[in-house]
Amino acid sequence: MKLRQLFPIALFCISLFLISWGYTGHRTIGQITQNHLNPKAKEAIKNLLGDTSIAEACTWADDARREPEFSETANWHFLNLPLGLSFEDFKKHIDTLSNENVYTALNKAKIELTNPQATRIQKVHALKFIMHFVGDLHQPMHISRAEDKGGSTIQLNFDEKGTNLHSLWDTKMLEKQGLTYDQLATKYDNVSAENIKQWQNDPLIQWLWESYQISTQLYAEVDAMNKRVIDDAYYQKHLPMVEKRIQQAAIRLAGVLNEIYPE
Ligand SMILES: [Zn+2]
Repeated sequence: MKLRQLFPIALFCISLFLISWGYTGHRTIGQITQNHLNPKAKEAIKNLLGDTSIAEACTWADDARREPEFSETANWHFLNLPLGLSFEDFKKHIDTLSNENVYTALNKAKIELTNPQATRIQKVHALKFIMHFVGDLHQPMHISRAEDKGGSTIQLNFDEKGTNLHSLWDTKMLEKQGLTYDQLATKYDNVSAENIKQWQNDPLIQWLWESYQISTQLYAEVDAMNKRVIDDAYYQKHLPMVEKRIQQAAIRLAGVLNEIYPE
């Protein structure tokens, strides 16, 4: 094979490794979550995680799925649907999906964490899965189409480098700010009490629906581009959406954990 033929294959393989908010996104979420936990939840989590911080625990699931022991978890990070569903059809579709996905995996992990029969290590894994999957399902391109692997095969140019729609939303836009996850958490941890209450009360299906609506918009925008170049106007317009999804993931993750460990 010529080098030119290998290039798209190489890009595709690289894209497979980038299948969730990058480390920065997940760790920012974990860092913000920590500030919104009740004391009982903080203590219970500390008991399970030991010296691992919540921010670090949030990325464990992406490393684990490369281990043979967790190879069956590879599909747990996303949910693929056809575009154009109404909210009612979207709900029906999700309830009838036979394959495991981020929705079923999150629910399973919540049951595991609260199961008195579960072993300590099972609970540690369940907690880390919850921390990761609440993040993943808020990344719009994780609730997206199967045929382009959540935007991974949609090639784009950003900052004069090749990327794809999935990776742009996982990492590229967030990391363009040049901040560490600590700095991003400080910058983003400013959600009003009213929004905290609202977001935590929204049902899980709503969180998925929001991502689905955003990914629908992102696909349409890319389709309408003459050249597949992400310019500064796109970046400025969409960065607040990235910020909001990170904030919602963090606040809702805290809500899930506070509910599991009520005061
Ligand atoms: Zn993931």
